[in-house]
Amino acid sequence: MIPNRRSLLQGAAALGALAALPLPAQPTILHPSSELLPRGHQRRVVVLGGGWGGLTTARDLRSTAPDLEVVLIEKNPFFWSCPLSNKWLVDVVDTQFLQHSYSATARRHGYTFVQTEVTDIDRDQRRVHTARGYVDYDWLVVSAGIRVSYEPWFGNDRKAIKETVTHFSSAYVPSAEHLDLKQKIQAFKGGTFVMTLPPPPHRCPPSPYERACLIASHFQKHHIPGKILILDPKPRIAPIGLGYKLAFEDLYPNVIQHIPQAAVRDLDPFNKIIKTTAGDFKFDDAIFMGHHQAADLVWKLGAIGRSPDGKTTQWAKVHPEFYHLPDDHRVFVIGDSVGAVSPQFGHYPKSGHVAQRMGQSVARYISAQAKEQAMKPQLIDNLCFMLVNTEPLEAISVQFDYTMGPNGHLLQTQIDDNERSASLWREDLRWYGNAISHMI
Ligand SMILES: Cc1cc2nc3c(=O)[nH]c(=O)nc-3n(C[C@H](O)[C@H](O)[C@H](O)COP(=O)(O)OP(=O)(O)OC[C@H]3O[C@@H](n4cnc5c(N)ncnc54)[C@H](O)[C@@H]3O)c2cc1C
Repeated sequence: MIPNRRSLLQGAAALGALAALPLPAQPTILHPSSELLPRGHQRRVVVLGGGWGGLTTARDLRSTAPDLEVVLIEKNPFFWSCPLSNKWLVDVVDTQFLQHSYSATARRHGYTFVQTEVTDIDRDQRRVHTARGYVDYDWLVVSAGIRVSYEPWFGNDRKAIKETVTHFSSAYVPSAEHLDLKQKIQAFKGGTFVMTLPPPPHRCPPSPYERACLIASHFQKHHIPGKILILDPKPRIAPIGLGYKLAFEDLYPNVIQHIPQAAVRDLDPFNKIIKTTAGDFKFDDAIFMGHHQAADLVWKLGAIGRSPDGKTTQWAKVHPEFYHLPDDHRVFVIGDSVGAVSPQFGHYPKSGHVAQRMGQSVARYISAQAKEQAMKPQLIDNLCFMLVNTEPLEAISVQFDYTMGPNGHLLQTQIDDNERSASLWREDLRWYGNAISHMI
């Protein structure tokens, strides 16, 4: 657990590479209109996005459907885990916990990895277009995560969006933003540090509060006179509200202030002023979490749902347990992009745990389809551990379980474990180790 400076620096260099996305020259196949991977005799599953959902799907398909060819397409050169990244920001875990090689993983499990950006999807031709050429599929699984949108705050003001992304981005997708944020936290000398939360639904609901705790612990440890204002659009902290409240009050009473009902009304990133429904604040530095929506690829797929009044829901409309599109049983969207699945609780939690469960389920379902077998839907679960203290290391947790209600709607139960403890932190490490070993 002790951070290793050499590997942190290696990780930093590798994260820097993410920013530039330096695709190696591929003179023979670079033309986007040529076929990138000619078909063999096997039927093919193409998985888009090498995050938590995509890596799990690709790996599980090799064991559940060994007769199918599996191709994973991902734009980044290596896997970077968002789970545990808050701990990495303040040196609780090392870079090698988070970062893994795609090519070594693909070789190990026997599928094809292609590093390139997917630019479009043609469902009529069952074809994926990429920056390096097109790839045809028989089954398609899209696990492309989220996109962060600042348009609800800035409209078309590209200058304000650029300023916000450049200086105050949230590091909520696998990208070089994580390195920028770590450097920003290490360089912070004191003053007001503002964190906004996106309106729900958003990626990993408890993780912004965890991040606040860990940055606060860093301030205390290094005697940095910083104050963290959490501007939360929700009326109260959720999930694990009590556990977080106690952590803020007991551990960081002079550092963290949680302000509920604070939806962003106006943001001036140049003069560092934010106006919210709970008041106006000046800040010295900030993490601005824009609105979360389904990834761009889901919009390109034409899979975004519509509400009864005809507006887009911003999230994918899929079968609540099989995750295929309503009009195409061979095209799936999984992970954080998935939209509401139940009138009782709306969205599944947008977590790596859920994305992994969906990936496992889709791999089994595709295998059953390939063998022309029927498959019963499988219920999933969710489990998240959040570190709130670093001296000693202590975590809290939340668990969600799902059942099928009598009227055919999914039902959710939630169990918060609000009592911070070292044993929950150990469970977190175990959970993460198991999850990663299922993907890598
Ligand atoms: C700070 C933080 C802490 C978290 N902590 C936890 C936790 O403790 N437990 C937990 O369960 N979850 C946690 N999460 C949530 C978890 O990271 C996400 O729920 C999970 O990653 C979702 O998986 P996914 O496959 O949908 O998306 P991702 O894992 O984001 O993967 C999407 C992939 O698609 C790729 N992609 C997107 N568009 C394209 C394109 N056009 N071409 C090629 N590739 C593309 C992306 O580069 C990315 O690699 C946390 C998240 C954050 C930000």
